Amino acid sequence: MLIPRIRFDMERFRPGWPVYGLAAAALLAGTLWLADACYSPEALPYSRPVSVSSRGVRGTLDAALKSEGLDAPARYRIAKLLYGKLDPRRLRPEDSYTVAFSTWGKMLSFSLVKDLKNYFIFPERGGNLRLSVIPVWISTASVAASGEISSSLWESMSAKGVPPAVILDYADIFSWSVDFLTEVRDGDRWSLNWTQASDPAGRLVSQRIKAAAYKGAETGHKAGAFYSGAYYDEKGESLRSMFLRAPLHYRRISSYFTNRRYHPVLKYYRPHHGIDYAAPTGTPVSAVADGTVSFTGWKGGNGKLVIVRHSLGYETTYGHLSRYAKGIKKGRRVKQGAVIGYVGTTGLSTGPHLDFRVKLNGKPLDFLKIKYRSSGVVKGKAREAVRAAIKKLP
Ligand SMILES: [Zn+2]
Repeated sequence: MLIPRIRFDMERFRPGWPVYGLAAAALLAGTLWLADACYSPEALPYSRPVSVSSRGVRGTLDAALKSEGLDAPARYRIAKLLYGKLDPRRLRPEDSYTVAFSTWGKMLSFSLVKDLKNYFIFPERGGNLRLSVIPVWISTASVAASGEISSSLWESMSAKGVPPAVILDYADIFSWSVDFLTEVRDGDRWSLNWTQASDPAGRLVSQRIKAAAYKGAETGHKAGAFYSGAYYDEKGESLRSMFLRAPLHYRRISSYFTNRRYHPVLKYYRPHHGIDYAAPTGTPVSAVADGTVSFTGWKGGNGKLVIVRHSLGYETTYGHLSRYAKGIKKGRRVKQGAVIGYVGTTGLSTGPHLDFRVKLNGKPLDFLKIKYRSSGVVKGKAREAVRAAIKKLP
């Protein structure tokens, strides 16, 4: 009787000792982890994990977790917890996850960062998994940079460490007054300052340019600062022009604004109070300014026509369209750049083109001769704030 009992005990305790040893090591590691926890935002509960795997989600989350060695029940429990909070099938490589395992292969925690939220899953005492959703820690900083162009704006700014998203914003701010493809010259100078928010991995999550300037041989000096949703120059005028440069991406201008033109279909001379932009049928046509649609329909030689009424007495018309954009009808408000229709050759027309006309208080106007027209103005204290921000530029 005695011998089998000893054997039984031995069987029970033989694997026990290493477990106690590991537990002691884990306790030590846990103490070390607690000491570390004060510094690390990514600290994990229980003990210091022996293996941590962290990467972007490629393919499905399930496939990723499978490659980490998690069995089907564990993957199911994780997916079940995440369901309802987010769609685990709709993850992208920029959504990163981290799995931590203990020395003996037990999952200590799983965390997934998506859209600035950390979905943190960990086992509770008793083995149930628990989910907590924590906002990702964001740091903000104020940054300034300036430089001189020797090849392109993009290269010059990148060389000074300006993030791509900030470069694009910079180009947008001046897009009504500077053509960065054709008007940039070596020796032109740029400067800007911006605030940016970054996640703990150092990735830029948002940015806002506070002030920016461009001094070019071709463009002259342009500067602006952010105020209440838009950028204004030293005079307090918005950098955004009231009009787009053109209502579409066109191949060429086939007819200019003139008081005497030989009409190719009617075969006699008459005024052409518009601009004909040659472009393939189906090319999207945009409203050149904010406004309200005042007419859509067939109008004689114009074919399918859209008329938009704008502020300050302006009106624009878009003729020979193949069709109207969805939802475009009388009374509809449109933003600058909104697609209102598509190029066609309806009405009196020899080929696909857009007949574009502008009237000011009912009088025809040559669109190409309209000088830059600011879309808004700030005065008084607001203008002072804008000037002060521009003055602070490096
Ligand atoms: Zn025309």
